[in-house]
Amino acid sequence: MTIVKCSECHADVSDKAAACPKCGNKISGAGKHSGKALLWVAGGLAALFVIGAIVQGERPEAKEEHKLRLALELCRKEQNDDLKSISERRLVRGACDRIRDEYIQKYNRNPE
Ligand SMILES: [Zn+2]
Repeated sequence: MTIVKCSECHADVSDKAAACPKCGNKISGAGKHSGKALLWVAGGLAALFVIGAIVQGERPEAKEEHKLRLALELCRKEQNDDLKSISERRLVRGACDRIRDEYIQKYNRNPE
């Protein structure tokens, strides 16, 4: 904190104080100003982040990724279906692995 001079009575006042303790004059210290500016920047960033998330949600690649992920999920369920024969499940697993490989190739990360 810094000590500033009151513009009314010239007393030494902390810039964190809302008003001069001597005359009650409002103190507008530099610290308070930057604090407010920071708040604005933070608010702006938060708004940008929300807008970015919305835009990203509507991006076609994001939809594509979601579809691929869903397909893989369904495929894995099918793969673990006990009613299917071993050879059938093996076949399904091969298909699932292909979907996963495609996903990894496209998005560079493992969806599972
Ligand atoms: Zn004062």
